[in-house]
Amino acid sequence: LAGALTACGSSTKTVDAQPTGSAAAAGNAGALIGVTMPTKSSERWIHDGDNVKQQLEKLGYKVDLQYAENDIPTQANQIENQITKGAKLLIIASIDGTAITSQLQQAADAKIPVIAYDRLIRNSPNVDYYATFDNFKVGVQQATSLLKGLGVEDGKKGPFNVELFGGSPDDNNATFFWEGAQSVLKPKIDDGTIVVKSGQTDFKTAAILRWDPATAQKRMEDILTKTYTGGAKVDGVLSPYDGLSIGILSALKSSGYGTSGQPYPTVTGQDAELASVKSIIADEQYSTIFKDTRQLAEQTVKMADAVLKGGKPEVNNTKDYDNGNKVVPSFLLDPVIVDKDNYKEVIVGGNYYTEDQLK
Ligand code: BGC
Repeated sequence: LAGALTACGSSTKTVDAQPTGSAAAAGNAGALIGVTMPTKSSERWIHDGDNVKQQLEKLGYKVDLQYAENDIPTQANQIENQITKGAKLLIIASIDGTAITSQLQQAADAKIPVIAYDRLIRNSPNVDYYATFDNFKVGVQQATSLLKGLGVEDGKKGPFNVELFGGSPDDNNATFFWEGAQSVLKPKIDDGTIVVKSGQTDFKTAAILRWDPATAQKRMEDILTKTYTGGAKVDGVLSPYDGLSIGILSALKSSGYGTSGQPYPTVTGQDAELASVKSIIADEQYSTIFKDTRQLAEQTVKMADAVLKGGKPEVNNTKDYDNGNKVVPSFLLDPVIVDKDNYKEVIVGGNYYTEDQLK
């Protein structure tokens, strides 16, 4: 009897606690949510996955979190499994933004909404929302920081030898980063302040498939041997991601950079990964772009929760992210440039890493 009373009491309480428009009213209280992330080889995605999972669980949802180690068929399988397991919503950070159309069709057939996380999913009508950072602005910031490192902001005229790297061509973000950077660098290339000595100025040649650090290292080594002969020096490298920057810096190191007589050129990055923030403090990498994964997770979880409650999530951009099939309603967050001047304030002050972690 006591048990029955408790059960009865708690069920009454549950009903009372759930206003109309709640996940319970929409039949989604405690629902399973499928979260797929590209890889654990880069720290940022580990943070993303952890943050999204934790925050969803706090709201009472169950979470299936999967990583695919950058293998497209693996990610496609994971999404199919989540659909089979009865997921009520999918959050996907895709590997190849064009390669999961049929999985998304299956989701749509089962009336499962999809949120693209950080990277836009392309060529499908079945993407409901997109949460990301302002990707064009990331590129603008990388290029702006590169100019600061070169001293252009302080009036130095150059010419500076700069080499350009792009991200993975199958990641929609990579072209946004590239175009944002070009909007700042192109005028400086045109007026002779910047010289791309290798002549490799187009995205196709500069792009690094799957954001692979070893490929970036190899490309930098090749450029150094072919182009920087007879005393010519590299002054700057536009790198779109911290992992690539590590590869690029190690190629430079093998070529004799990183000494007091020959310091490293200005090398940019993205993600404020621990090793790269340390590298910035050690005067190796020049800067990174900090994208607070806690914020992105929070925004995405808010979106998911609104959708599961039968409501409309907040968006702040309905024009920039055309996925080839439709413009996906998006929420864009603000990225921040981090270099040696402000890492304490932004990274330590913002509790992203502690002073101790950076030692
Ligand atoms: C993300 C970047 C990241 C890159 C490599 C991009 O889609 O937006 O933050 O550096 O992937 O993982």
